[in-house]
Amino acid sequence: MTRSAACGGRGMAFIGVTAATSEDGAACSVRISYLRALTAAGAAPILLPNLDEAELRAAWLDRLDGVLLTGGADVDPALYGEEVLNGTVKTDGVRDRAELPLIRDAWARRMPILAICRGIQALNVALGGSLYQDLPSQKPSAIAHRQAQERCVCSHAIRIRTDSRLAQLSGTSTLQVNSFHHQAIRRLAPGLQAVAWAEDGVIEGVEAPASPFVVGVQYHPEDLADTQREARSLFEGFVAAAKAWRTQTPM
Ligand code: MN
Repeated sequence: MTRSAACGGRGMAFIGVTAATSEDGAACSVRISYLRALTAAGAAPILLPNLDEAELRAAWLDRLDGVLLTGGADVDPALYGEEVLNGTVKTDGVRDRAELPLIRDAWARRMPILAICRGIQALNVALGGSLYQDLPSQKPSAIAHRQAQERCVCSHAIRIRTDSRLAQLSGTSTLQVNSFHHQAIRRLAPGLQAVAWAEDGVIEGVEAPASPFVVGVQYHPEDLADTQREARSLFEGFVAAAKAWRTQTPM
């Protein structure tokens, strides 16, 4: 029996959405723009709380069609073998303990993953890569990757590998994007390939050539989806991949 038969062929993809922990550790939350972008692309988003339990992860992943890794605080540098560089590094340990194992489990199942901002960084660390902890200190450049403009405004260009899924979905090999990060991928994890860069060489996109759909971006397409066709196409491509994955995966 296929999952689609079990699900009665309903049209929506169920996408798990990772969450941030509040500073006092008392709440989990996600920006609504991620949920709006998913629903506009035909998905039913399911908020995943930061609970580190293997049995829960398996139960969620058994039922989900894809996972969206959202933005948020910095990944603890200890998870890639480094000490905290300076006071700009703000971590969310509760989230790290729940999200990184979830990423590894979803990866092992070859589930569709879209990873945004912290998400691309968490994906890279979960699979064995490392990060620049603070771009202004460790890789200074003329580009302000932490833009002052509001979230729907683009502030720098990226160059996209023409043979990548990101270029195919975006319909272009150069794109204007927004930028709200002070960290970025340093050493790429095994299994991931860089597919987009800012003009200063900072990695702005990755993919996993061996998986059906694993795309990470360092910018925030969820905040551009109202105004930028390329941002909408990325969510639509992700949701289409999640639906295709569901119909192909035996229960
Ligand atoms: Mn950037």
